[in-house]
Amino acid sequence: MERKLGLDDIATDLWYCSKCQMCQAICTVHSVTRKQSHAPMPRVWLIDLARRGILDFNDVASVLYSGCILCRLCTEYCVSKQDIAKITVVARADLVNLGKSLPKEVMEVIRNMESTKNPMGISSQKFSVRRTFSHRDKKNADVVYFAGCVNDHVTTEISNALLKIFDAAGLSYSVISNECCGLPAYELGFSEIFVKIARNIAEKIRASGAKTVVSSCPGCVEALKLKYKELGVAVDVKVMHHTEFIKQLLNSGMIKIQKPFNKLTTYHDPCHLGRYLGVYEAPRDVLANIDGLKMKEPYKNRNKALCCGGGSVFRLINQEISLQIASKAFDELARTNAELLITACPTCKHSFKQIALKEKGPIRDVRDIAEIVSLAI
Ligand code: SF4
Ligand code: SF4
Repeated sequence: MERKLGLDDIATDLWYCSKCQMCQAICTVHSVTRKQSHAPMPRVWLIDLARRGILDFNDVASVLYSGCILCRLCTEYCVSKQDIAKITVVARADLVNLGKSLPKEVMEVIRNMESTKNPMGISSQKFSVRRTFSHRDKKNADVVYFAGCVNDHVTTEISNALLKIFDAAGLSYSVISNECCGLPAYELGFSEIFVKIARNIAEKIRASGAKTVVSSCPGCVEALKLKYKELGVAVDVKVMHHTEFIKQLLNSGMIKIQKPFNKLTTYHDPCHLGRYLGVYEAPRDVLANIDGLKMKEPYKNRNKALCCGGGSVFRLINQEISLQIASKAFDELARTNAELLITACPTCKHSFKQIALKEKGPIRDVRDIAEIVSLAI
């Protein structure tokens, strides 16, 4: 059988690693497990040994899925900007292409995506029955809202808040829901399944006739804007994260802040919004528009922000490690003494909300930025 080793393409990058171990010092997963196999560079060298046929890929399969949450924090600190998240995804794709046996949790996520259109395996859709919006489902509307599977099934309140904002702006829009963007399949190494999903979503966006697609999920925006194109699927419309779109609505006067929101808050930068898409200022600019809202930055912010522990379906595969990561990041955010944590990603919100409900610290609630704006207009 022909070996499809995508890692050959990036093998030369490995030679630029100075072995300074900075990545090990800050790695999101290694910082809670302290396992040597979860340290970024030793893991990458294991991958390299497998790539060169010295180790069997079966021997590195489990650490490839448990050792990296794809947060990209290490790249921000790396002197040679090694993209360890990308190396990990390519190595996972090699495993899949070589037909190696994968952890059962990974296979369950993939089966769920194929049978229920979401990685969680939830069969009933919650979002569509919640509320009817006045301007939705219009053919050839200006905007199409892509809800994404987490908002469809877990954080339905984020979609409701955003569509309330769309209504207030008088927008004509349609909605694509009960669909996953496919990013989990890509990140787990199943690129053929990802491309199949991407083609279906791209066709739905094209059929909507909209010129702009907006999503409140950074992972969906990353998939639609970057990953579809990377794998040859065209989405020929503007793709925006909802924080960028809300900022545009505020700047153009289509929505106006009318009510004060008197709370001390802090803001968490989602990995996929910040380190993957480079969107750091739009959420802060939106929050700066809200009267009475005070925002205290956490010490680790923007490109150095800690990961929420939920990203890239990591929680579905490694629940215990995921909760430890979330708890560590939440403690860092709680040091601001803010009473409310604001974020801009359904997975981050869900991840931190579970901790906030249990802990007795200053942060009593977690909200998405769309919820705050919908209360203030
Ligand atoms: S921080 Fe970068 S250069 Fe240093 S060991 Fe890690 S990958 Fe290599
Ligand atoms: S991407 Fe995140 S979890 Fe993966 S090696 Fe880098 S810091 Fe660790």
